[in-house]
Amino acid sequence: MSTALQELYQELILDHGRNPHNRQKMEGCSHQAHGFNPLCGDDVTVFLSIKDGQVVDAAFDGKGCAISVASASLMTDSLKGKTIKEVKALFAQFHGMVTGDEEDDSLPDMGKLTALAGVRHFPMRVKCATLPWHTLEAALNGTAKDISTE
Ligand code: ZN
Repeated sequence: MSTALQELYQELILDHGRNPHNRQKMEGCSHQAHGFNPLCGDDVTVFLSIKDGQVVDAAFDGKGCAISVASASLMTDSLKGKTIKEVKALFAQFHGMVTGDEEDDSLPDMGKLTALAGVRHFPMRVKCATLPWHTLEAALNGTAKDISTE
């Protein structure tokens, strides 16, 4: 990765860490789950509003390090309008990216989420970056009544 790109990504993470998008409690959400990363103290609750198998709105609340907050911010941004199937595919792609081979410098095309690819070089930070995603998965699986597997 070029240094300029790395700096751009670093800036994006710091920006979302300081001024996260979608950080608010959601009233009347259809799905929610709480996640905690004891290694770092990251604490996140994910809220989803899902209608007809599609994410209408996504938000999170909580506190943690810049990586976890930025990851939750970028994640909630990326979920809106996606179907549950697309969300699960995105999670798989994101997980693959942040736990990928350190030597592999090729990056998937994941838009702003690609900014978090660098955490693969920091095993301790992988849990910070994936916490909001695992919480998202728990939220999706936790409430059976509105979930469509498609
Ligand atoms: Zn953390």
